[in-house]
Amino acid sequence: MDNNLMDKIVALCKRRGFIFPGSEIYGGLSNSWDYGSLGVELKNNIKQAWWKRFVQNRDDIVGIDAALIMNPKVWEASGHVANFQDPLVECKKCHSRFRADNIKDGICPNCGEKDSFTGEQMFNLMFKTFIGPTEESSNTAYFRPETAQAMFVDFKNVLDTSRKRLPFGIAQVGKAFRNEITPGNFIFRTREFEQMEIEYFFPTPQNDSDWNRYFELWRKEMLSWIKDDLGVGLEKVYEHEIEASELAHYSKRTIDFEYDFPFGRSELYGLAYRTDFDLRNHEKSSGQNLKYRDPDTNEEFIPHVIEPTWGVDRSVLVTLIDAYSEKDGKVILKLKPKLAPYKAAVFPLLANKPELIKVARKIYLDLKQDFMIAWDDRGNIGKRYASQDEIGTPFCITVDFQSLEDKMVTVRDRDSAKQERIKISELREYLGDKIK
Ligand code: ATP
Repeated sequence: MDNNLMDKIVALCKRRGFIFPGSEIYGGLSNSWDYGSLGVELKNNIKQAWWKRFVQNRDDIVGIDAALIMNPKVWEASGHVANFQDPLVECKKCHSRFRADNIKDGICPNCGEKDSFTGEQMFNLMFKTFIGPTEESSNTAYFRPETAQAMFVDFKNVLDTSRKRLPFGIAQVGKAFRNEITPGNFIFRTREFEQMEIEYFFPTPQNDSDWNRYFELWRKEMLSWIKDDLGVGLEKVYEHEIEASELAHYSKRTIDFEYDFPFGRSELYGLAYRTDFDLRNHEKSSGQNLKYRDPDTNEEFIPHVIEPTWGVDRSVLVTLIDAYSEKDGKVILKLKPKLAPYKAAVFPLLANKPELIKVARKIYLDLKQDFMIAWDDRGNIGKRYASQDEIGTPFCITVDFQSLEDKMVTVRDRDSAKQERIKISELREYLGDKIK
């Protein structure tokens, strides 16, 4: 376990404005976190890369953005009211409560007492609320515990309006809420988090290889996303095939993609074959026809579905962990340029020379039209480089006296520290190419 690395990342996030404790001035709120001005850029860049890869660049997937509070019947039909629960135990000595499967050797993680737990009680993880002014059970609603159900509930509307043919997918990015018994490990497990999910529908399989084919395609897509989009090496990624006896109530096969986090190997993403469980239950429960009609044969059937699911916050965490490096006691965050909060920083060599400032300001304001750009005129160049390295800015652009003559600037690369002279008029294209 490398808690030291976690501590460094949490400290860096706070110090530089990536992520702060939520409601901090009131003492925080049970492992909730707020994304600051750099964190929101990193997180948005991850969500945009995902949307580009899986929605924009493909013609077999369309997106939705559904209401977060859905009709409570959705959660009855999906099985969440009956089954979405974790086993809870309480330490008889200190009265702290834990998820039973997180207890090691019967020892209380809070007070250290051994074998003093109550029996297991099942605890439903959905957050409840009330719709309207009266708090009666008939008005109970739930904050969605996953984004997935909206893709099933909206299936018919999407099908009718998008005119997609099977196989096709519906994608969504959004918040989900779970009343986790033991949140922790920074943004790894929180009670409010974001998911990026796809339900990929295909015709009723005739045999196992029919659905395994899609499963395999998505398995590869998920690994490629980690490597090519997040820039995270696969050496610390493990595929954990869930045993049949451990499968969720809706799943016929599930793989958890796990990562060696500094606090231990834990789930990053999941991939599940949900059969036709959800659409079938929603059809039964709503009384609506949710079948797909094959345009060639006119045959009607309920499609089956593969669900790849990605946690946004765990994506942010794994990206930060993998990008973190130190050189000569200084932090370099080796983020992919595409994900970095700022694509470049612009500096006048000296802060007290109006002629340098004028040119640098113009470059800064011009580039800002197309990219997130930082400005820094404090301290010396070395300090400015170090400050940008720490937040992962891939390029630093310095305007010096020679720039006034030759209309060129020095561009310094974060990872190689190499410097090159680039024409001011070509900076936009230069950055655009590097960021792709
Ligand atoms: P875990 O076993 O860690 O509780 P899970 O198997 O319940 O996770 P899923 O229901 O498969 O998780 O949710 C899909 C994805 O959502 C997960 O792979 C993870 O990336 C993310 N996720 C789930 N729960 C949380 C949480 N409490 N905080 C942050 N991200 C989460």
